[in-house]
Amino acid sequence: MVREFEKHIEGVQISQGRTDIAFTKTNKQTWAFTADPKRGDVNIHYRVYCFEQSVRTSYIDAEHAFLLPSSCLMYIDGMQNGQVSIVKPEQWQQISCTLKPGKNKSEFEFTSLDELYDSPIEIGNQTLFDFEVEGVKHSVAMVGKNNCPIETFKTDLQKICITMKNIIGSHPCKNYLFIVHHVEEGGGGLEHSNSNVVQMPRNSYSNREKYLQFLGLCAHEYFHLWNVKRLRPEALGPFDYSQENYTNMLWVAEGITSYYDELAMYRAGFRSESDYLKSLAQTMSACFNRVGGNVQSMHEASFDAWIKEYRPNENSINAQISYYLKGAVLGALLDLDLLNNSNGQKGLDLLMQGLYKTFYLDQNKGYSDQAFYKAIDDLVGKPLQFDQWATSPNTEAFKTKLIQAFEQAGMALEWNNSSQKHFHGIITEWKNEKLMVKAIDAQSINYQNNLQAGDEIIAVEDLRVKNNFEDLIRLQKENSKVNILISRAGLIQHTSIELQASPKLDCHISIKDQTNATYKAWLNK
Ligand SMILES: [Zn+2]
Repeated sequence: MVREFEKHIEGVQISQGRTDIAFTKTNKQTWAFTADPKRGDVNIHYRVYCFEQSVRTSYIDAEHAFLLPSSCLMYIDGMQNGQVSIVKPEQWQQISCTLKPGKNKSEFEFTSLDELYDSPIEIGNQTLFDFEVEGVKHSVAMVGKNNCPIETFKTDLQKICITMKNIIGSHPCKNYLFIVHHVEEGGGGLEHSNSNVVQMPRNSYSNREKYLQFLGLCAHEYFHLWNVKRLRPEALGPFDYSQENYTNMLWVAEGITSYYDELAMYRAGFRSESDYLKSLAQTMSACFNRVGGNVQSMHEASFDAWIKEYRPNENSINAQISYYLKGAVLGALLDLDLLNNSNGQKGLDLLMQGLYKTFYLDQNKGYSDQAFYKAIDDLVGKPLQFDQWATSPNTEAFKTKLIQAFEQAGMALEWNNSSQKHFHGIITEWKNEKLMVKAIDAQSINYQNNLQAGDEIIAVEDLRVKNNFEDLIRLQKENSKVNILISRAGLIQHTSIELQASPKLDCHISIKDQTNATYKAWLNK
């Protein structure tokens, strides 16, 4: 998504010596002026409002400053190298950043605009610790109050980093930085070439499941240092920061990364085999139960990410599918397909290693769609036509392909009908003390009927609804018609919804042949 960070710019003044220079805005993000080369340096002075707390925006408060250069520093057309000097309040002791230090501790140098824009800066009193992965120093900046058991986290994070490094085999960084923002609620992450920024609810370290999910998030953002920051689709770097950069391949960049962040939790010993297979089965279920998966292909989801993925509305569940979600399913299928066609000898790790060498190490350029799909065929020496699964929406053929791939790999992938008899497909949210209809699943009878997004549900069979809609629905008879009182645009209406047997599927994966070559290679047996 084009984030339009220029909206936070105010008070622009341009001068040369003591002379102010007039400028014009030529579009929303460009300030144009003419300077006299004989009069020396040009000064451009402006303020930036920084108060959006996320991994992708600059934020300053009394405790710390998080600066994302792409969101707060203007660039000059054609600009390459330069320095950033930071003037900070004295009570803030630390500056964490992977840019090369300049003459003193508050100065940093960059050799390209991409390097500057890809290097977040954390300033404050963060707690620091470090460890090594293959001789590369990794620093972790822990920002804000938290209940992290540092020694355990350090050991676990190092294990995760080594696991991700082993997929590709070599580490390209001189140093690497994790910036961990401890927040009240949230869990976002964003990758950079030599760092990443992740959010963790401040007291969630004591909750084992939340902790494991956080380690999975760290694995995900960290693996991006290879997959997308270096091995990348053609359109993704160097960037045109002023407009959309189109690619069909976000299912590789995000989906394969998502596949690996789950698998890494198994490989690093944090999840058991059965836990891993259960979570992969849940991913498969979610992929096929998403109505939008029958509408949008992975290439479409990727190409249109600029207008759809990060701008969801009430129709998104029925018209779109995430390239993280289905991309992870494609990642699993690709891994099994490769192993199945090489007697367990060549899997996804090897494909990624080969692509990384060819496109990043040897040529430092992005791969085309064709080059990616060709590398698959070249690895196993036969055409797998894998692009067909990424260029079409979910189909029966795709479901059959998955079943066959697991069968050939010594496993069984089964689809069972959900036993739920109270399915209604109405997605609600509790907002301002009101129960609102957020969206309606197109697989539900109610999609065609009486409710619509934006309706407030007031009562179910004369029982006043609070945040207990599902409890009230479960009190009703299976497959029945239920009277509902709603308010639509301020007008009270009596209407009804129908409950039906759920059309959703539950996926289950089980092991059939423990001696199968693919199975053994896939799960490192
Ligand atoms: Zn990602």
